[in-house]
Amino acid sequence: MKPLLELKNVCYAYHSRAGETSALQDISFQLRQGEFIALVGPSGCGKSTLLSLISGLLVPESGSILFSADSAGAAADDSRLREKIGYMLQRDHLFEWRTVYRNVILGLEIQHRLSDENLAKVDKMLKDYGLDRFRDARPSELSGGMRQRAALIRTLALGPELLLLDEPFSALDFQTRLAVCDDVSAILHHEKKTALLVTHDLSEAVSMADRILVLTKRPASIRTILELHFGQDGLSPLARRSTKEFQEYFNLLWEEMNDNV
Ligand code: ADP
Ligand code: MG
Repeated sequence: MKPLLELKNVCYAYHSRAGETSALQDISFQLRQGEFIALVGPSGCGKSTLLSLISGLLVPESGSILFSADSAGAAADDSRLREKIGYMLQRDHLFEWRTVYRNVILGLEIQHRLSDENLAKVDKMLKDYGLDRFRDARPSELSGGMRQRAALIRTLALGPELLLLDEPFSALDFQTRLAVCDDVSAILHHEKKTALLVTHDLSEAVSMADRILVLTKRPASIRTILELHFGQDGLSPLARRSTKEFQEYFNLLWEEMNDNV
């Protein structure tokens, strides 16, 4: 199958008066439609930079990023492409002065896309994912997990083909994080989305991903790509955690990461 996203020999460096900081070195990989890839690597190695390049916020110094949502394939700096990418960050960026409902339609409002069809989609997601009762509540009335679900619905409302998740769970306490990982994973499978998750939590990567890209320290290059297979398909992140494969993959990653630093 044709990959949704293909990176070929991507390099990037930041330039400032203090000099040059090389962040990414020769990154090549493909992301298949419907696939969930986790990106792990030492702090400061270039993970967020890589997401910025994929989303088109930054432009590679060399190499190419190809997104094939349309059959023709579009270059990464194509503005049409940006509409096809949803970004979710560590902070949920919900606005307290808006109700939950008015937060989740904010992206549609900004893009002038408040059509009946899009609003019906939002309504359905609020119902499906347990937030319908809270549509008139303020974000501060929601639990951390519910806030992240609201942020995800706001992102999905725009109909992205690809979701970039930059440590979206790291501000949550451990218990909540386990539950939210399950929720988000179920929602992404249900909506058949392709996702790239940056995380520093190895167990989160093993519990959620189809493949894990391990990056070296800065400037990041790809150290290993680990393809995950569990005895049973379709396990939730929580269910994966109690399999023997989980432990094995975790140990493997742990060794890779510790060789790395
Ligand atoms: P990660 O997300 O893996 O923690 P980043 O991609 O944020 O790492 O950053 C990679 C490297 O690039 C870091 O050393 C960081 O200090 C540097 N960097 C990030 N943003 C900038 C910037 N705007 N200007 C200069 N250097 C930057
Ligand atoms: Mg980062």
